Amino acid sequence: MIYFIGAGPGDPDLITVKGKKLIERADIVIYAGSLVNKAILDCAKSGCEIHNSAEMTLEEVISVMEKGEAEKKMTARVHTGDPSVYGAIREQIDILDSRNICYEIIPGVSSFCAAAAALRKEYTLPGVTQTVILTRMEGRTAVPEKEKIESLAAHNATMVVFLSVNMMDDLVERLKTSYPESTPIAVVYKASWPEQKIIRGTLENIAGLVKAAGVRKTALIVVGDFLGDEYELSKLYDKNFSHEYRRAGE
Ligand code: SAH
Repeated sequence: MIYFIGAGPGDPDLITVKGKKLIERADIVIYAGSLVNKAILDCAKSGCEIHNSAEMTLEEVISVMEKGEAEKKMTARVHTGDPSVYGAIREQIDILDSRNICYEIIPGVSSFCAAAAALRKEYTLPGVTQTVILTRMEGRTAVPEKEKIESLAAHNATMVVFLSVNMMDDLVERLKTSYPESTPIAVVYKASWPEQKIIRGTLENIAGLVKAAGVRKTALIVVGDFLGDEYELSKLYDKNFSHEYRRAGE
């Protein structure tokens, strides 16, 4: 059996209870070494075989899984954050499906959630935006034409940009095609790690601030008026608004 496990954003306490219990039981661990906090693996049993997928190809990862299956071993495939966001799990599970190998996916806390927590903000503010766009800039790998930053920026929604902090100048220029220059933006480096850093600014000055801070990777860029202080109160807790669980005035 193979378990794909979301390891969370970095803090070893931010893995799910289920994910941790599975790592404790695993005979084989394959972890994404470029981002997963190695402390997550401290709970693995002694004798557990540990592989760092940062140094492996897809074929090598699959072959470790297949060998484990042949030996009736349990494999934990540990991805950073939640595996559904830039996790490259689809190509693995499709091969497992084609070979009739059973697997299960255990979700994790994505770094975009940890970034909001670090910023102490809510991405979806009433009267501001009700949409969160998760995206990245094209770099060495492409992004579909219809999803270029300029098109997404047109919504003025909350935008969380992964894998792009090394292209701040270009990103900011593209965001400015639709967001006003005064729009607040923040860069969260290594959310939930001890070395976490938050850089706050506006579209006008953020690129310089990020350069000065020397942040070049493992960071999220979050932009939008959710970072500001103007919004409407929610209807959910409004005393004049009834819903399934509460009547107005009660
Ligand atoms: N599946 C992961 C994302 C993997 S892509 C998730 O759900 O978070 C890797 C990118 O995620 C990094 O380049 C960076 O943009 C972001 N990232 C991952 N961990 C991070 C963290 N702790 N703080 C800030 N950004 C992080």
